[in-house]
Amino acid sequence: MTAVVWLRHDLRVRDNPALFNAAKAGQGVIAVYVHCDAYVRLHTIAPVQLDFVRRHLQIIAKDLASLNIPLRVIRVQKPVEIAPELLRVAQTFDAEYFYFNAEYPLNELNRDLAVNQLLRDNGILVKRCHDRCMVPPGMIRNGQGEPYKVFTAFKKKWLQTMMPVAISPLGLPAKQPLVSAFVSASEDEINQLFAAQTLRDLSLLWPAGEDEACRRLDVFVEKSLTDYQDRRDFPAIDGTSSLSPYFAVGSLSPRQALSAVLAYTHGDWDGGNAGANCWISELIWREFYQHVAVDYPQVCKRKAMQAHTEAFPWRYDPALFSAWCEGKTGIPIVDAAMRQLSNTGWMHNRLRMVVAMFLTKNCQIDWRWGEDYFMSQLIDGEFTANNGGWQWSASTGTDAAPYFRIFNPISQSERFDPNGDFIRKWLPELAYLSNKQIHNPPAMSSYPRPIVDLSASRKETIALFAKLPALAH
Ligand SMILES: Cc1cc2nc3c(=O)[nH]c(=O)nc-3n(C[C@H](O)[C@H](O)[C@H](O)COP(=O)(O)OP(=O)(O)OC[C@H]3O[C@@H](n4cnc5c(N)ncnc54)[C@H](O)[C@@H]3O)c2cc1C
Repeated sequence: MTAVVWLRHDLRVRDNPALFNAAKAGQGVIAVYVHCDAYVRLHTIAPVQLDFVRRHLQIIAKDLASLNIPLRVIRVQKPVEIAPELLRVAQTFDAEYFYFNAEYPLNELNRDLAVNQLLRDNGILVKRCHDRCMVPPGMIRNGQGEPYKVFTAFKKKWLQTMMPVAISPLGLPAKQPLVSAFVSASEDEINQLFAAQTLRDLSLLWPAGEDEACRRLDVFVEKSLTDYQDRRDFPAIDGTSSLSPYFAVGSLSPRQALSAVLAYTHGDWDGGNAGANCWISELIWREFYQHVAVDYPQVCKRKAMQAHTEAFPWRYDPALFSAWCEGKTGIPIVDAAMRQLSNTGWMHNRLRMVVAMFLTKNCQIDWRWGEDYFMSQLIDGEFTANNGGWQWSASTGTDAAPYFRIFNPISQSERFDPNGDFIRKWLPELAYLSNKQIHNPPAMSSYPRPIVDLSASRKETIALFAKLPALAH
């Protein structure tokens, strides 16, 4: 009995259910990774994330080789080529079993259904494991058996479901007998997967690999978890874990993260450690948006979660949009955040909300433009979290910010970057201003004037939302 494991956004050997289960019988396993050029274009995957994946593949190839599991890599142009290529691998290896960890957004679901069908038609048993969420989508339901639209209720049910369960991440998969006929992909073959894309190497900021992910998790839990609730909203300090890139490519699993927290709190889920409670909530937000993508598949089709908001007259103004992308809006906290994004491939959560609200509510630009731009830049770009964050900010999504509660970016700046440290770091041209002036600088030649009137645009947006069919009286 031999098995193929298809790796996707689960680039780790420890606590990998598909890999672990495939290796259990110890009769030989081959791992395969497929890179699809059209998928990269369709999802506007950031060059910085592509390079992060490339570096992870180099590492996991070695880790797998030490378990006698060769890694095959395949490059295809279009998604329709994926299933036949995987069948070819399974047949070459004479595999009886084919394993993968589930991915939930619609495109990925359809891709996996096609693979499942073709392999089954050819007599290969397909095993789909759950990995990306601790509670698989479809299992959190209200009293009427319906999915939740509101996070707080979802979280309560999620906790009721998970708290009685012992969280014990899986260890290494079993070492396999050596099958010398199948060799692992070389470094060069892995690099060649990305020949059609431009990559961006930020390896100093974001070293790859599951060892690095676990190291960062341990440091965060040990040093920052307890104060997380108090420090997480201040972008000038390292108050959050910065683990999102590792979750995105799957070099860290949510079970590993939760288990580290519970080890630290001695098994206490919601007791005295406010920082730990708050961080667990963030892990649940991560799951919530993955459940939303399954329960409300319209969000995977570029549609608003709340259908009536499709009538909002979004603007499609390239000049305004470019100013936002380039960090030239004349609002320092927005510009500093956008420069953090373009320089590091990552942005602090508080600022993601601030810049997304500014783009959608003050500039009235379609949230889908912002969503795509974020994906094209983020090292942690992940469809469900990104879509959820954008729809929340645009008041089109589940549990969205009410349309009349619009962040004022200058007040947010004064509150969460009180001394202007974050602004000074990314906008050195404003560094000499006082702590008061830096949030809203006077007219000067070296810095643009605000591209929109914050107060007038806010009022206009609220009035436009109020006129939407489902809200107008
Ligand atoms: C407009 C917008 C776009 C976003 N796009 C993405 C994205 O593409 N990828 C992504 O991983 N996150 C996204 N987020 C969520 C959040 O901003 C990041 O997960 C967080 O900033 C990552 O930093 P961290 O790892 O230090 O998080 P921590 O504060 O340490 O949180 C721990 C983990 O919880 C998860 N998490 C935290 N907040 C959220 C959230 N609001 N929604 C879903 N998961 C969350 C992440 O996996 C994160 O790594 C977006 C948020 C907004 C408002």
